[in-house]
Amino acid sequence: MYNKFAPKSISKPHPSLISAEWADGFSSTITLEKFRDECTCALCKDEKEKSAKDPFKMLKTFVKGMNELKSLEKVGNYAFKATWGDGHDTGIYTYDAIREIFEKHALKPEEIEKIRNKS
Ligand SMILES: [Zn+2]
Repeated sequence: MYNKFAPKSISKPHPSLISAEWADGFSSTITLEKFRDECTCALCKDEKEKSAKDPFKMLKTFVKGMNELKSLEKVGNYAFKATWGDGHDTGIYTYDAIREIFEKHALKPEEIEKIRNKS
């Protein structure tokens, strides 16, 4: 099945950024932090729901390497599996979800510039 939301290319222009491009001309760059935040696995969804109910848990515990994307592996013809620096690898990102995430969190050119100049 042809998926119109399949990204044409995905790249990491910077250790904390990820870029994607689609055949319809849309392209966007977001932070890996946001990409991790949007992890759709049951574990992360559960954590998100809990924190929404309890304002004191709003801040997720930071684990070293959790925002380092180790690999992005194709799953069938519909998704990518992300493996993170903290060993988390249960997140499957469907093409639709990836497109949605990149639309929602798209950085402005000046924001990208700022991140690139930081390190
Ligand atoms: Zn997850």
